[in-house]
Amino acid sequence: MDDIAANLTTVRARIAAACVAAGRDPSEVRLLPVSKTRPAAAVRTAYAAGCRRFGENRPQDLAAKAAELADLPGLGWVMIGHLQRNKAALIAAHATEFHGLDSLDVARDLERRLERLGRPLDVLIQVNTSGETTKSGLAPDAVLRFAADLQGLDALRVRGLMTIAANTPDRARVAACFALLADLQSQLRSRGIDGQRYDELSMGMSGDYELAIAHGATVVRIGTAIFGARG
Ligand SMILES: *Cc1c(COP(=O)(O)O)cnc(C)c1O
Repeated sequence: MDDIAANLTTVRARIAAACVAAGRDPSEVRLLPVSKTRPAAAVRTAYAAGCRRFGENRPQDLAAKAAELADLPGLGWVMIGHLQRNKAALIAAHATEFHGLDSLDVARDLERRLERLGRPLDVLIQVNTSGETTKSGLAPDAVLRFAADLQGLDALRVRGLMTIAANTPDRARVAACFALLADLQSQLRSRGIDGQRYDELSMGMSGDYELAIAHGATVVRIGTAIFGARG
């Protein structure tokens, strides 16, 4: 656990260096520590080192940690990855961001619940840029239509796109995933859908975040490089 602060320092420095190498301002890239499977104590350590938002991929865990850590001011929770409709209530109630929207049914369910709770949710649309059948997310050619279908769901603040790149040592294939997401962002921006901004590109994990930054990532989701290997 003592390593967490040191790992954060290293990751932050590497993010800054990747920004400089890409000719980008380091303030354009946000680090999202992914605390999934880690105990609340690990989140406290990262919080003490300045982190305020954490990523979780299981709604039950997100809700449990939100309750356990409710004493920490300004703490926010980000649901990352596919959300099953029967867990939408947990996300509507406890998350501040959702990187992984890929279903209109889930979108409508979240909208109804958020309306009732009187709170908004920042959402990023998940795209399957690798074509791997094991991955969630919309097919790239379905994204423009999906974005248009989200119009009118006003509690969902559409902020951008999210992807998980191909799981391969082939850097060119990983880079192609990131480039595809950035290209979809440009297409969405040029369409100018009312009320949707598309400023955010959530892409890059422990093994590929520098490459993602080179391709325009604004959020990198990092677990093992901060918290160590998951047991
Ligand atoms: C686990 C996870 C991450 C972080 O992965 P690491 O390789 O541990 O950095 C990022 N994004 C999603 C969607 C995840 O599920």
